[in-house]
Amino acid sequence: MPFGYFGKILHVDLTSGNIEVEEPPEAFYRKYMGGSAMGVYYVLKDVPPGTDPLAPENVLTLMTSVVTGTSVSGQSRINMNARSPLSGAIGDSQSGGFFPAEFKFTGFDGVVFRGRSPHPVYLTIIEGVAALHDASHLMGKITGETEKLLKVEVGDPKAEVMQIGPAAENGVRFAAVINMSNRLNGRTGMGLVMASKNLKAIVVRGKTKPQVADPDLLSKLHKLGPKWMPENPDVDGLGKLGTASVVLPQNMMGTLPTRNYTEGQFEYCEDISGERMAETILKKRDTCYACVVRCKRVVEVTEGKYTVDPHYGGPEYETCGTFGSYCAINDLAAISRANMICNMYGVDTITCGATIAWAMECFEKGIIGLEQTGGIELRFGDADAMLETLQQIVENRGPLGSILSLGSAAAAQVWGPASEELLVTVKNQEAPAHMPQAKKALAVVFAVNAFGADHQSSEHDPMYEEGTAQLYLDRLAELDLKDPPPYGSLGPEKVRFAAYTQIFYSILDTLELCQFVWGPAWCLYGPTELVDLVRAVTGWKVSLYELMKVGERRINLMRAFNAREGFDRSQDTLPKKFFKPLAGTGPTAGVAIDRQEFETALDLYYQIMGWTPSGMPTPAKMEDLGIHWVAEMLPQAV
Ligand code: SF4
Repeated sequence: MPFGYFGKILHVDLTSGNIEVEEPPEAFYRKYMGGSAMGVYYVLKDVPPGTDPLAPENVLTLMTSVVTGTSVSGQSRINMNARSPLSGAIGDSQSGGFFPAEFKFTGFDGVVFRGRSPHPVYLTIIEGVAALHDASHLMGKITGETEKLLKVEVGDPKAEVMQIGPAAENGVRFAAVINMSNRLNGRTGMGLVMASKNLKAIVVRGKTKPQVADPDLLSKLHKLGPKWMPENPDVDGLGKLGTASVVLPQNMMGTLPTRNYTEGQFEYCEDISGERMAETILKKRDTCYACVVRCKRVVEVTEGKYTVDPHYGGPEYETCGTFGSYCAINDLAAISRANMICNMYGVDTITCGATIAWAMECFEKGIIGLEQTGGIELRFGDADAMLETLQQIVENRGPLGSILSLGSAAAAQVWGPASEELLVTVKNQEAPAHMPQAKKALAVVFAVNAFGADHQSSEHDPMYEEGTAQLYLDRLAELDLKDPPPYGSLGPEKVRFAAYTQIFYSILDTLELCQFVWGPAWCLYGPTELVDLVRAVTGWKVSLYELMKVGERRINLMRAFNAREGFDRSQDTLPKKFFKPLAGTGPTAGVAIDRQEFETALDLYYQIMGWTPSGMPTPAKMEDLGIHWVAEMLPQAV
């Protein structure tokens, strides 16, 4: 048996019900390594050009990596890819929890879904045996109920369940795929693709652990985690206060998006912070398989009008942002209830909260009225209005819910040009709670990222500006980043930082590693340990150079998919709002992205990546990355 992976990928044809096992050679695993790179490999090869994302011809992939399921923090993650119904571009989304490791223990590395089942089904993969089952009785059920029923049906409470919720069945375009009822493959609408295939759930249980080439080296790495954690204030704070530990620092920097990205400071930021959560509604900390950080929150509210069931976890920083400061709501119980509803029905909290915030600004500015909202006074700061709107979205009902369930970019097509001016979307995906007006490298990465604005696709500027901690600079130097520019720069050195750290994050999304544990700067483990991890698990004598090439390969596979579907530089844009001065208080008041500076940065980024001035990947770059088969798919104009 190979080390780290099983060499087996399931292929499930949902139209015929046929299930086959592919056994790719070692060279395939070493070239693509897993996760998103492996998933996009199948999507690019097997989805015909121009395919409707909700047609049976779209391919949906679920991939672990060559290190998933091993005993080290931050390795239990799993990726979904397909053509996205939100953007029409490549869709990409990752989740953690216990499902990813359990999936690996079934003896498979991934699964590729094709076709559409004639009736609702769920897939079980138990101890190496895969089978489809009728799921008609599960339709319309919220995630917690479905999870409970499926564990009983397979007769094992330790089985892990990944599923779509009612929102996907109701056609919500930003529907998520959810495991443990609180871990989401949230972004890019993968839940709606799964629903279009009539696939309700995937249930896994197994005891086959992957073999490790060098257990001593892996054990050494594993032990370094708890030793280093107290010495690393960023990771230690993440463990103690969850991702919401960054609410207050973000506010201090003026990068906490407020009132639909109009301001960078929220006057009630303390009320939605990780500190306040720990003092009030936190029930316990949770984790993912084998992770020492334990950043996940479980909250409970038993009194008042915003009760919260702890089964659905607790809000992340992004959720505190999108349902909190974006909407100017400072009630942590209401935000946690919004998080619970998103998890019960299965929708992405970023897109959902940001879409509601955008609708609130449209209402405040008189672009829409009570006729469009179905009578809801949709004002900033009104938690009841936010929760009612959310409920209508997940049920896809009423004049407001049915429009907003498409996401804000599609809704703006209905509400007109004045509403478009207020969008905060890139490639139709709502921007997360990190402001590129101040974190300028994110301006480039939000724009160029193949699946829309994303905060987990590169390192953030404060890690590479004058005054950065030495530990982080030592790690970044391993990527040849040794000359931190001044605060707020978008000059050449910052563009290099954007491109190089994007490539590094891309290998993390290929190896399916948690970016709070593994990273090029502030995380528990840095680039040296990443190389050690892949060597320890697989036995391959990899170098950082080889891993960076794998990361670059993934970016280019996604870029090639988009190019084939007609995407180029004209879609690598930022919302108009980002070029207007921010209102409010703090260090970013009056700050905007300079359009000329942004376009110059984009020019340089394309040159660094080896693409044309119009942002198209080239046949030469495909040859450079050993994926000449992709060159044939690129548009002739290149
Ligand atoms: S840091 Fe948090 S999200 Fe990442 S693996 Fe650990 S517990 Fe899971």
